[in-house]
Amino acid sequence: PSAMHDVNLKPPPIRFDDIGGQESVKKALRRAVRMSTESTERLSRYFDRPPRGFLLYGPPGCSKTMAAQAMATESGLNFFAVKGAELLNMYVGESERAVRRLFARAREVAPSMIFFDEIDSIGGQRPGFGSSSSSTTSHGGLNVLTTLLNEMDGFEAMEGVVVLAATNRPQALDPALLRPGRIDKVIYVSPPDEEARKAIFRGVAAKRRMNTDVDIDQLARDTEGYSGAEIKGICAHAGEAAYDRDVEEGSSDGIRMSDLQTAIRNQRRQITKE
Ligand code: ATP
Repeated sequence: PSAMHDVNLKPPPIRFDDIGGQESVKKALRRAVRMSTESTERLSRYFDRPPRGFLLYGPPGCSKTMAAQAMATESGLNFFAVKGAELLNMYVGESERAVRRLFARAREVAPSMIFFDEIDSIGGQRPGFGSSSSSTTSHGGLNVLTTLLNEMDGFEAMEGVVVLAATNRPQALDPALLRPGRIDKVIYVSPPDEEARKAIFRGVAAKRRMNTDVDIDQLARDTEGYSGAEIKGICAHAGEAAYDRDVEEGSSDGIRMSDLQTAIRNQRRQITKE
């Protein structure tokens, strides 16, 4: 077990409860965890082919990475995480070896999960698929993708290994990745709805000093279209304003509604229709 520790990352202790809203995402991931250790006999009663590969897609800052981390924490599965871009920054041949090694290790210590963040940087469309804006038309990226596809083909037989991938650009993925037996369950992680936004503000309020005039329902209404990350950013800016007031005027009545409203006005929205 000794050599395993350098790659077998300790997940940061994020839990599903730390994620505001996203109930259907949490449900799908809990099911994935349960199924990874379920007997094939029981699974065959309900599934032709139980999904083993999962894709989280959606706009930036809306908790895809958090969801993967929470899944790792709560499942206790051995967790391997790799960013697409990291794999591409290796020497020729190194990234392919890294991918093969990753799957081999995951198999050895199953039940386990492999998380590919920013999968589009290695799993972009191969030339010939009619996409011009591909980031993997270079040879390096192409070989990594081929290796990944090969590993995933052997992967149905891989009891107890779950593959989870995340992307902001699902349309850029090579369709071969999404074929049955590879990544065959696709989960949309939406921007937070009003309930989720309330939950995010409540989560922050529970940890900070809030003025009694803070109205969380109103804040949730005023942040339609903002990502979770942007809402966290709003709270951070409001916190700075309240801290400055404390330092400069000695007023320690906490973060005020007006601090939050100013921060909302100043926070740009990144999520677009597309
Ligand atoms: P990217 O595509 O940019 O990697 P992502 O969807 O993976 O984004 P995360 O990294 O999971 O987004 O989220 C970024 C930060 O936003 C989190 O660390 C967290 O602070 C905050 N956040 C986003 N959504 C939520 C949420 N639903 N509840 C609580 N915090 C959230």
